[in-house]
Amino acid sequence: MPYYSDDIVEEVRSRSDIVDVISRYVNLQKKGSQYFGLCPFHNEKTGSFSVSPQKQMFYCFGCGEGGNVFSFLMKYENMTFKEAVEELAGKAGITLPQREMTYQERQRADKRSRLFEINKEAAAYYYKLLRSDAGKQAMDYFTKRELTLDTMHKFGLGCTSKYSDSLYKHLREKGYEDEILKDCGLITIDEKRGGHDKFWNRAMFPIFDANGKVVAFGGRVMGDGEPKYLNSPETEIFNKSKTLFGLYFARKTRREQFILCEGYMDVIALHQAGFDNAVASLGTALTEGHAGMLKRYVKDVYLSYDSDGAGQKAALRAIPILKNAGISCRIINMKPYKDPDEFIKNLGAEEYEKRIQNAENSFMYQIRMLQTRYDMTDPEKKSDFQKEAARMIVMEFPTQLERENYTESVASAFNIPKDALAKYIIELGRQGITAKKDTGHQPQEQKKTMKPRDDGMKMSQRLLLTWLVETPEIYLNISPYVTPEDFEEGVYKIVAGEVFKALEEHQPVDTARIVDLFMEEEDRKTVAALFNTTVGELTDNSDLSKALKETLLRIKKNSLEHAQKSGADLKSLVEGKKTLQRLERLNISL
Ligand SMILES: [Zn+2]
Repeated sequence: MPYYSDDIVEEVRSRSDIVDVISRYVNLQKKGSQYFGLCPFHNEKTGSFSVSPQKQMFYCFGCGEGGNVFSFLMKYENMTFKEAVEELAGKAGITLPQREMTYQERQRADKRSRLFEINKEAAAYYYKLLRSDAGKQAMDYFTKRELTLDTMHKFGLGCTSKYSDSLYKHLREKGYEDEILKDCGLITIDEKRGGHDKFWNRAMFPIFDANGKVVAFGGRVMGDGEPKYLNSPETEIFNKSKTLFGLYFARKTRREQFILCEGYMDVIALHQAGFDNAVASLGTALTEGHAGMLKRYVKDVYLSYDSDGAGQKAALRAIPILKNAGISCRIINMKPYKDPDEFIKNLGAEEYEKRIQNAENSFMYQIRMLQTRYDMTDPEKKSDFQKEAARMIVMEFPTQLERENYTESVASAFNIPKDALAKYIIELGRQGITAKKDTGHQPQEQKKTMKPRDDGMKMSQRLLLTWLVETPEIYLNISPYVTPEDFEEGVYKIVAGEVFKALEEHQPVDTARIVDLFMEEEDRKTVAALFNTTVGELTDNSDLSKALKETLLRIKKNSLEHAQKSGADLKSLVEGKKTLQRLERLNISL
């Protein structure tokens, strides 16, 4: 059940111009009847992101992201539909009616707020324990890591006891039932043994969400136990791949970049040394979700991963994910030290600041890492490396200018004769090797969803719907032949129904409203695609007429075949055949 009535949603939508709203986030240029800009949802160098004031929709021809003004905020700001409506209502000065939550909604909201409460209660408990006799070992650990009391306070550090049920007992005393405790991420309820803690004998790091609420914990074992580091499991309030340690503090930084590191201690040490822009992903490799979170705050990131082999691998994995989200990154060299914590302890904050200033361009870093895999004393291996470097330049950079700049930098940094490198790059171009269009290094999975395998059939149906919306006059030509029944089941048919109904009643098609008939993100994207299929470069009227007739024929034939296969009754099949024959003889003139 939607939270606000259709009327209210419609009012908010119609009073929030999509061009105004998106302009706050994306630099748009007018071209013809549309606006174009660089897509905020994939990394590109030419603007394939379009916003249509007529349709009140956006659509990216590069990655297929699209929808109306609500979809944009949901995607860009990671909001729910309800939050997007509230945000835009606020901006448009519309007062939203208070509505009673349904029982389920209230249950769910209650549960979330209780999970927040429990995690907060646990943080207070651990915090106190650290500052008591029971916390001596953990306190020694933090002190040895040279953390000040202020820092420990700022990050809310704490510790558990040595017993495996002390938090459980504490929370029970506070009145929490097993029913909710089993879902908070901190307690295991076992039928035989009863409740016990997931964390014991550990130094504890609360994990805050971007608004400063404790959503989970990380714990480092005291002594030699395994695993050394342990995180809360995912819960209704903790999504690992969207949570960054330190973000709550870093989002207030004055610096324009974030420093991305590997662990809690790195983040805390950096903040203590004055780098209040440090964050870390939590015990997992960087995900697209993390990159999306980062993108909400900064455009540039410095990677400060461990300088060992594992850290280098992690950096090489992170670079394309960041680039793909439209974040450019540079790599901080921490040698001879392993991580930022160790570096700062030995060389100090000023020296680290210098390393930031000298951070390496991520592409040059990738080439340098590539070089380590070749034996440069062997002439054959050496030329293999040089060829691979050339190939990477070609694959990464689509424009001549960038290629030339990088050819020069790579040649001088890696001692490759510049002319030879340039010649080889031209040779590769001749062999048809080109930059992956705009998207740089797309992860494999995303590539699949970007260009959905699309049979010609769906294409024809999309084309017709876009056409009807952009040139409603043709409705009279087509309505005797094609009806919404001829469209694919599901989103296509529903959308066609809406379009035909509006045109039948001589109303403009409210494309942005149609998007809101669907709540699933994938469906909303499909609707955007349905209204943004280009007719191509046809301008001549007779070409257009021909194309329209072919489109109608394809849709009708397909629909008939489908009806035959699914055993439609004879009468409607005969009707369909007759319509098809009339259509074949038809001379459409536009
Ligand atoms: Zn895009």
